[in-house]
Amino acid sequence: MIYLDNNATTPLAPQVREKMSLFMERHFGNPSSLYPIGREVKEILTEARDTVARALRANRTEIIFTGSGTEADNFAIKGVAYANESKGNHIITTTIEHHAVLETCHFLEAKGFRVTYLPVDEYGRVAPEEVRQAITSKTILISVMQANNEIGTIEPIAEIGKIAREAGIYFHTDAVQTVGHIPVNVDELGVDLLSMSAHKLYGPKGVGALYIRKGTKLLPFVHGGEQERGRRASTENVPGIVGLGKAVEITRQEMSEEAERVTYLRNKLINGLLGKIDHTRLNGHPTNRLPNNANVSIAFVEGESMCLNLDLEGICTSTGSACSSAITEPSHVMLALGLPPLEAHSSLRFSLGKWTTEEEIDRVLEALPQIVAKLRAMSPLLKSSR
Ligand code: PLP
Repeated sequence: MIYLDNNATTPLAPQVREKMSLFMERHFGNPSSLYPIGREVKEILTEARDTVARALRANRTEIIFTGSGTEADNFAIKGVAYANESKGNHIITTTIEHHAVLETCHFLEAKGFRVTYLPVDEYGRVAPEEVRQAITSKTILISVMQANNEIGTIEPIAEIGKIAREAGIYFHTDAVQTVGHIPVNVDELGVDLLSMSAHKLYGPKGVGALYIRKGTKLLPFVHGGEQERGRRASTENVPGIVGLGKAVEITRQEMSEEAERVTYLRNKLINGLLGKIDHTRLNGHPTNRLPNNANVSIAFVEGESMCLNLDLEGICTSTGSACSSAITEPSHVMLALGLPPLEAHSSLRFSLGKWTTEEEIDRVLEALPQIVAKLRAMSPLLKSSR
């Protein structure tokens, strides 16, 4: 199998698996207990918190572990919205956010908040100046993702951070696709809240974290005990958190070398596809993009058909479309780029990872042109364009 869907999820790194297994074999204590087996676990939890904090250049007390990236997004947005309602009810975000942010904003709209969804340019970048212009006296939160999960475009977070700070407005970024892959420094980015998730960086599923800058006013997300400084009650998912800590430690050590290696393979893939298959375009920014993401639209063929045919060759990719049982809707991100629905339907995402090899990229460059030629020969889309 050739796995090229690392923006969806990553395999567990062996060192992460080993650390989690060892932890589970040796420890079962509740970190809130005062006797030694509990205290030991509490210390292990603190170590993981320190590792995550160091990676983001944050303070240990500013890291809250969550059940996922989705939960971190919900926590940040609802938490700030409800704690700052007396100041205003306006939130600014973008049209290309992950559903974890968009659906949270839709929920808040139904509760009386007002949300501005800023458009993006043809490369998927939001203009900081448009963020500035959207601010009103009622704005309490800006939420812009650091990098998009479908097209890989990296957003100008530091510029938006400056604008948010000048205006005294809280700024959240969804960094689920960036932590462990590109440098993330909360002060340089000027963010007050930042979401991350372990399973995008070779850690386990079902665990994430939210960075909350000291002094940020937000409501607790889960009510109950005093865990996570009373902000997210419930006994901690310690094995998951241990895995997250180890994953952050490894990716941080390997980041610059790995980014260089993967960028080379990604560029080879992009250039190969654009060179070998006519009527193909790259989606997302040509250079300002995640090192591992290549998203292309290949005219006259449907993304789903390419995906299924690649699957028959043992190659795992994904489309930009959200498939439901009967209807395939074009992705909201593709539509936000201004692609006509037919082109939006013909997108295909390759996301490379730590174990992707050059031979695998060569295999894709051999297989996909043949698949596209076969599909185009049968394509009603091509016939109707002639
Ligand atoms: N935000 C982004 C940008 C993502 O890519 C994802 C996962 O696909 C999430 C949030 C949700 O993270 P999780 O799967 O941990 O809930």
